[in-house]
Parts: sequence; C-alpha cells; structure tokens
Amino acid sequence: AARSSGDNVRVYLPTMGQIFLRRFQLVTQFRQALETGQVKVHYQPKVALPSRQVLGVEALVRWRHPEFGKLDPDEFVPAVEAAGLIDALTGFVMDQSLIRVRKWLDRGLRISAAVNLSVRSLDDAAFPDRVAGALQRHGVPPELLTLELTESGVMADPQRALPVLRRLHALGVVLAVDDFGTGYSSLAYLRQLPVDEVKIDKSFVLGMGTDLGDHAVVRSIVELGHSLGLTVVAEGVEEDVARDQLAAMGCDVAQGYLISRPLSESRLEAWLQARTM
Ligand code: C2E
Ligand code: CA
Ligand code: CA
Ligand code: CA
Repeated sequence: AARSSGDNVRVYLPTMGQIFLRRFQLVTQFRQALETGQVKVHYQPKVALPSRQVLGVEALVRWRHPEFGKLDPDEFVPAVEAAGLIDALTGFVMDQSLIRVRKWLDRGLRISAAVNLSVRSLDDAAFPDRVAGALQRHGVPPELLTLELTESGVMADPQRALPVLRRLHALGVVLAVDDFGTGYSSLAYLRQLPVDEVKIDKSFVLGMGTDLGDHAVVRSIVELGHSLGLTVVAEGVEEDVARDQLAAMGCDVAQGYLISRPLSESRLEAWLQARTM
C-alpha cells in the first residue's frame, strides 16, 4: 500500500520516434493514396433556415489507410500542408466537388460545394488561376463554389492574404471565414476583406443551448454579420433547440449532425433523393 498506485499504471503512448515515423509515412504515401482511391471526399449538407432547403455541401476529406485504418483530416492535413503537398489535396477535393455540382446542375439542382483551403494557398499567386481553370473545366458557375478559410489563417496576416483573396473574389466564388469566433479578430475588421460568409465555430453552437455566454456570442455574430451584409452559417448544429434558436436569431444557414453527418458520395445521393422528392 506504500507503493503509489501510479507504479501500476502503464500508459502506452507512442514515442516521439513512432509519431515521427507515422507522419513521415503519411506524407510519403499521400500522392499514391490520392491516385489509388484511398483518399475520398465526403459531403455534409448545408440547409437554409428556416426553410431547410438544401443550399450546398461542405467537402470533407477522408483517408482509408491500408495500415492505419480510417484517418480524419486533423490527423493528416497538417502533415500534408507542412510537406508542401497541399495543392495536390486542394486540387483533388475541388475537382471531385465540382464534378458533383455539375452532375446536380445536369439534373436541374443548384447545390453549391464548399472546399476548405489551407492558408498556404493565399501565398500562392497562381492559385486563383487554378480555381478559374477548374471552374471552366467542369463547367460550373463561380457562385456555386465556396472557399472556406479559417479565421486564424486569414487574420494571421491579412495584408499578405489580401491580393489572392481579391482575385478569388473577382472570379465570383463565395469566400467564407471558417471557425469564426475562435480567433481574436473583430467582425469590423472583416469588413476590410472581400468576404461573403462567416461560419460560426461549432464550439459556440454546441454550447448555445446550455451556456448563456455561447448563446450571446452566437447572437452577436449573427447580428454583426448581417449588419456587414454577410451570410451567416452555423456549423455544429446537433439539436433541434439550437436549430430553432438559430432560426429565431435570423441565422441564414445550418450545418451539423442534426441535418446530416458528412456522407460518402453514394449516401449523399440517397439522402438528396429522399429530401428533394
Ligand atoms: P472544419 O472545416 O471546421 O469542418 C467541420 C468539422 O466539424 C468536420 O470535421 C465535421 O465532420 C465536423 N462536424 C460537422 N457537423 C458537426 C456536428 O454537428 N457536431 C460536431 N461535433 N462536429 C461536426 P472533419 O471532417 O473531421 O474535419 C476537420 C477539419 O479538417 C475541418 O474542420 C477542416 O479544417 C479540415 N479539413 C477537412 N477537409 C479538408 C480539406 O479538403 N482541405 C483542408 N485544407 N482541410 C480540410
Ligand atoms: Ca470548413
Ligand atoms: Ca469550422
Ligand atoms: Ca475546424
């Protein structure tokens, strides 16, 4: 009994070497994973409030790794970014998404796709031309493509991001600031950027039913967002209560497990069929 119970606790944390090795493997295998179909795009629907009409989907990448199993983007996107391979990922996700949007257009459905960008793309003067090329190749009008950038990414150095943001905006694509509320920027500052949409970070939306502070943050983002002429999107909508509160506040768009989890291509099609018939 004199011995501390801590002696008996064994925690099998991976060593730094193992973590490094895994990251190294992911990075070296990534291109091949794209080519062999291990990397797939899932899509999460976004609906209008209060009508619940399907407006668009957010593209969220998944990797089914032969050794490590299903990997979430948080596990490999940062490594892919650091290795300078983000263009390959963004290009892949954008192509897959625009193929879907085009197929829907051919069936008379106007549903947009939102693609997550790395802040690194904002340093890349050739990026807007690649976006324009992709839209043209797939025959998709620019307003059906949304590009999501995190608040922390854009606000880290807004002056540096501005030229590429302006050119993207000039193409007519929709620019969204993701994870809004987690950084330290003010909405007033956003007015100086060519941005069309704010996405309230899910941490506030998840808490708004029980936490008065979260509720107040959400309401003020909706109000200020609207006063700046922005579309306001809430992500992380898991409960009826949150959706109803958001609708009452005038929030424009809802996304979250309540509406649907991110779905594979085929499951999304089934979901859409059931909704639009
Ligand atoms: P994000 O852009 O903020 O995406 C939303 C995340 O919230 C997704 O996680 C989604 O599955 C999850 N989510 C959606 N609805 C709910 C909900 O109601 N409750 C909760 N608790 N979570 C919800 P996911 O798919 O694991 O993606 C994580 C992050 O990885 C994304 O955060 C995004 O920053 C990044 N990411 C995903 N795909 C890409 C990509 O193609 N390129 C880049 N650069 N980043 C990506
Ligand atoms: Ca996003
Ligand atoms: Ca987000
Ligand atoms: Ca996030």
